[in-house]
Amino acid sequence: MKLVLLGAPGAGKGTQAKSLSKELKLAHISTGDLLRVAIKENTPLGQEAKKYVESGELVPDHLVTKMVIERLSREDVSEGFILDGFPRNRQQAVELDDFLSTKSTCNYFAFYLDASEKTLIKRLSGRRICGMCQAVYHLVNFPPKEDMVCDHCQSELYQRPDDKEETIKNRLAVYNRQTAPVVEYYSKQNRLIHLKADAEASLVLDEMLKILATPFTLLKEQKKKV
Ligand SMILES: [Zn+2]
Repeated sequence: MKLVLLGAPGAGKGTQAKSLSKELKLAHISTGDLLRVAIKENTPLGQEAKKYVESGELVPDHLVTKMVIERLSREDVSEGFILDGFPRNRQQAVELDDFLSTKSTCNYFAFYLDASEKTLIKRLSGRRICGMCQAVYHLVNFPPKEDMVCDHCQSELYQRPDDKEETIKNRLAVYNRQTAPVVEYYSKQNRLIHLKADAEASLVLDEMLKILATPFTLLKEQKKKV
């Protein structure tokens, strides 16, 4: 089974990808993790990416695409994968298809986790991160045991400037501009599964598993009828 998870920051892609990968025993491929590992292992792509990260710039799309393709070429994803954070724009979606079309099957579905702006702002503005080990907490949904202190390493938690309410709206606008074309691209390909994602994570996960329990061929037929 091959899945792509789309959704705005705060829609729950990372959380759902992690749970799905456990439930379905599929490789979870997150672009954030790929970048961190490549830099840590000092691979050629990691070295290139490091230059951008260190100067506070965004890692360019073509580098991220290369990393994802390299990861998808490894043996442990032959049974399937869950892509989280990729593709971010239409160009990357096309490049992913180019690569997958060289494989025996390029049958995959894209879940679009669609949460309202109100939900996204609530989730993102409650996020707190450990400055030391990068563990992620949430004031309401996943609070640390002790106020503003990391459960794992006892360091102080902080709010990323990105997660302050006034900047969240900007992030969402940028995201929508880039990703709306990806949603449309998959919709035209008859791959898109549109899912409301305002409910709590476990309920959204149940819904996804229910949908995925439908055989893929049937799913495709059903989608054609919609
Ligand atoms: Zn920590």
